[in-house]
Amino acid sequence: MTVANLDTKAEQMPESEKSPRANIFILSGPSGVGKRTVRERLDMEDLNMENSVSWTTRAPRAEDEEGVTYHFATPEEFEAAVARDEFAEHAGFADHAYGTPRSQIEGRIAKGINVMLEIEVNGAEQVMEKYPEAVSIFLVPPTLEELESRLKNRGTESEDAVNARLARARVEMDMRTKYQHVVVNDDAQRAADEVAAIIKECAE
Ligand code: 5GP
Repeated sequence: MTVANLDTKAEQMPESEKSPRANIFILSGPSGVGKRTVRERLDMEDLNMENSVSWTTRAPRAEDEEGVTYHFATPEEFEAAVARDEFAEHAGFADHAYGTPRSQIEGRIAKGINVMLEIEVNGAEQVMEKYPEAVSIFLVPPTLEELESRLKNRGTESEDAVNARLARARVEMDMRTKYQHVVVNDDAQRAADEVAAIIKECAE
């Protein structure tokens, strides 16, 4: 069932039987801006929300858990899923592929559960086109220097990879105008509170 079909069905219901409508919330922004930290500080139960688990071809990091942070796939498995049209969006990032399976979105919306997509900007644009009702939030660092030091301190990438992510971050920052909401990540808890307030306001 598509989100559009659901809307039509919900509109036909008497007002008293309608439950708050579930929606897709896109949390995007340049790599290293702290999207994951901010997302982890959201009270998902309070927001009636679940995280979409993406597919990626990158290697797992120490903090990763298969099926929880990502589903880790080989490039061949990823391409086969693309060919089967299983992704709501997918994009290349730092030499790897990332994608959101449609099932991660549509199953939850059908059950009335909000879905959080923490994704990079090209995938976010695809979601905005495919699901125009989705709420888009762009997280920005207070300054680009701050982003550089966060990427370096994270210590998860080589110097070349950090430089590639930084060059891309400069381009990604210009895409903020396409988003409904821009949140400055000056402090993870403050930013998470602002994101939660946006979600609650949109879910009303
Ligand atoms: P990382 O390798 O640091 O986990 O993620 C790299 C980038 O890919 C981050 O900006 C992250 O938000 C983004 N990302 C994670 N999952 C997806 C996805 O399913 N689709 C897209 N387009 N980007 C994703």
